[in-house]
Amino acid sequence: MAAVKVAVVTGGNKGIGYAITQGLCDRYNGTVYLTARDENRGREAVAKLNKLGYKPLFHQLDIEDQGSINRFKRFIEETHGGLDVLVNNAAIAYKNDSTDPFGKQAEDTIRINFFGVLNTCRALLPLMRSHGRVVNVSSSCGHLLRINGQEPQAAELRTKLSSPSLTEEELCDIMRSFVKAANAGNHYELGYPNSCYVVSKVGVSALSQIQQRTFDNDTSRVDMVVNHVHPGYVDTDMTSHKGPLTIEEGTSCKENFKFEKK
Ligand code: NDP
Repeated sequence: MAAVKVAVVTGGNKGIGYAITQGLCDRYNGTVYLTARDENRGREAVAKLNKLGYKPLFHQLDIEDQGSINRFKRFIEETHGGLDVLVNNAAIAYKNDSTDPFGKQAEDTIRINFFGVLNTCRALLPLMRSHGRVVNVSSSCGHLLRINGQEPQAAELRTKLSSPSLTEEELCDIMRSFVKAANAGNHYELGYPNSCYVVSKVGVSALSQIQQRTFDNDTSRVDMVVNHVHPGYVDTDMTSHKGPLTIEEGTSCKENFKFEKK
């Protein structure tokens, strides 16, 4: 008998991650895990979905805590023996008017949005079964052209980031160099933009392409797909509720298309 399929959403307690979880509960033929870094917020979200008739399961997962990632990996391995869908949704964004030093914003943003996703994937991707799907929630900020610091250094960075031979370690070095430069105050001169969020999401998009290449060369599993997606500008805490799309529209390509055609 085929194993029951398993889907996991990170940062599922609110915003787009909550809507993705709801959508999976509605349409995915398998077990759906809503994960959250805070157990109370996660369980409250599950209870809210239960009231709507959906039955996601909960597990704690803080993507910046290697211990939490390892515990979750062990749990999935022991309980289900594998994984079929992973939605890397969890992320942070400093507000434009934040007064925190740029170096600190860079450290936090790259640690969670890039290294958090990387470490979660390093733990969970080996568990993925044939026909697996990974969705890395990136952003329109993840477009390569958003690497628009001083030229020609920015162009050199774009070339490196889009190279079909870029490795995970080389990408990590680019992310670490940004954090170092952000602390030193010379990130723009080195080609990086003045947005930590942009660098983190360009990193996630580049990572997605490396992950797809790795799956393509993995003969032990077939039909593995990694996508990096932009949900549109969505009404969530992250955007201070300025986005025009509802969280449900943010999870639906059709709705995004309709919005852009207006
Ligand atoms: P929200 O701020 O509403 O939600 C973010 C979620 O990520 C929360 O559940 C939050 O948990 C969780 N999270 C943050 N850090 C961690 C962590 N270390 N471990 C686990 N979970 C964590 O954001 P959105 O719903 O708007 O964003 C969801 C995704 O969509 C993000 O990747 C974002 O970059 C992307 N995106 C959003 C856009 C928009 O217009 N909203 C546009 C483009 C991309 P907690 O509640 O505990 O803080």
